[in-house]
Amino acid sequence: MLSTMQDVPLTVSRILTHGSTVHGESEVITWTGADPHRRTFAEVGRRAAQLAHALAGLGVGEGSPTGTLMWNNAEHLEAYLAIPSMGAVLHTLNLRLPAEQLTWIVNHADDRVLLVNGTLLPLLAPLLPRLPTLEHIVVAGPGDRSVLDGARPEVHDYEELLAGQPERYDWPELDERAAAALCYTSGTTGDPKGVVYSHRSVYLHSLQVNTAEAFALSPRDIALPVVPMFHVNAWGLPHAAFMAGASLLMPDRFLQPAPLAEMIETVRPTIGAAVPTIWQGLLGELDATRRDVACLETVIIGGSACPPVLMRGFEERHGIRVVHAWGMTETSPLGSVAHPPAGATGDEEWAYRTTQGRFPASVEPRLIGPGGETLPWDGESAGELEVRGPWIAGGYYGGADGEVQRPDDKFSPDGWLRTGDVGTITPNGFLTLTDRAKDVIKSGGEWISSVELENHLMAHPGVAEAAVVAVPDDKWGERPLATVVLAEGATAGYEELKAFLGERIARWQLPERWALIPSVPKTSVGKFDKKVLRRQYADGELDVTRFGA
Ligand code: AMP
Repeated sequence: MLSTMQDVPLTVSRILTHGSTVHGESEVITWTGADPHRRTFAEVGRRAAQLAHALAGLGVGEGSPTGTLMWNNAEHLEAYLAIPSMGAVLHTLNLRLPAEQLTWIVNHADDRVLLVNGTLLPLLAPLLPRLPTLEHIVVAGPGDRSVLDGARPEVHDYEELLAGQPERYDWPELDERAAAALCYTSGTTGDPKGVVYSHRSVYLHSLQVNTAEAFALSPRDIALPVVPMFHVNAWGLPHAAFMAGASLLMPDRFLQPAPLAEMIETVRPTIGAAVPTIWQGLLGELDATRRDVACLETVIIGGSACPPVLMRGFEERHGIRVVHAWGMTETSPLGSVAHPPAGATGDEEWAYRTTQGRFPASVEPRLIGPGGETLPWDGESAGELEVRGPWIAGGYYGGADGEVQRPDDKFSPDGWLRTGDVGTITPNGFLTLTDRAKDVIKSGGEWISSVELENHLMAHPGVAEAAVVAVPDDKWGERPLATVVLAEGATAGYEELKAFLGERIARWQLPERWALIPSVPKTSVGKFDKKVLRRQYADGELDVTRFGA
């Protein structure tokens, strides 16, 4: 028997229409360096309609991938809502990728129209000769346009293009399974892989972001996505905020600790989201200077394991609660969120909050052991995490004429996503990741968690950052190399750090190889880039001190 329910497609245009009417007074506030620029959701709705008309005039139609090379700002939000709502596909480009990857991605996606911030034109201009598919460039915001003089694709000004366009658009009734957005993974090995989100997945994911299991946005909130809008849709915050009527504070290109602190003091967001390295910088700023950031109730940390010392630092010294979450480009990204279970207090509560958290009903996890067996949720059996659900990728974009790609190392034969993350799950569903499968240190027959060693090292007051990688070892196969960035003015030596570690981990796990480095290399989305460290070690570029375990 079928239900008697209506079958209304879950589309981005519904989020746009709802947010711009019911929550028309909520605002998107863009930081401009000195003061904030404010635009209501009602205006965003009108301008999104104008943008859709303008893009249609440039030939953008249903299914057209349309690129954005933009910071987090109001215009990017308009593109986020207008492009999918008109039936085209929002393709967010990571402005920190190396030139070859960026050009490869634009060509693979077959972008014809690209929206770009004026401040990013110096980055785009040299790539243009290698971007033959591009027909139109639309430049938004400040920045010297003259670098595009004589450039091949036609150049338009965003505001001029919108001016005079109708403020309403008859949004088409789309298939909810149609593509809404396209985002390529950062591609540490091989070519980047395109994840195509559907209208349905964006809609359902936004609902989940707004539950108490996740971040429970409401019209009383101002959300600050420091995580870029090109990194998994800024973790779903723009769509979720528009749906819930939560205002948005967009940092644009002002991502350093001092301007972040200033915009928090001025605009008073209630919730922020970023990778640990960003929050580490802000914590340093807050510790060093007196700032009134009491407005910030919650900080979401994800994208890499959150060191417990960072969590405690925010909470104990500044009264800001950190919520740890796990996700991937392939998971939209909301996977698990670490809210403690009812009744947990003190150390038990902290222990839960430093895990990667629990999954919502829509994301089903399983752990797979080395022999392909499904492992129990006993908090001890460690295996590769696999997930499935309505906002989890089932394959990668194959290009304009290509077929969907389902590589064996990324998808199981029965269609689950292989995350490449290794961990345990407790009987009450809390995930603890011990490593990326490729970062785990296989020493003799035992595995050493690089994340565990890093977390302990970073808890030493003399350590600003620490990254541990596996390096080849004649006797054990692999052993840990500890690379350490000392805190300003700190003088801790290897012996002291090793003794500190020795009190916290088993003796056989203690690294023999140590190197002091000026900073940990970071990926295009601000995570520790262990690939670079491994290469630097292999090429003899690190000054390694070695002593017996
Ligand atoms: P990306 O697709 O760039 O967002 O990277 C996804 C990967 O980031 C995951 O597969 C994890 O390895 C890592 N990651 C994300 N969140 C966390 C977290 N909270 N703890 C540990 N690793 C994480």
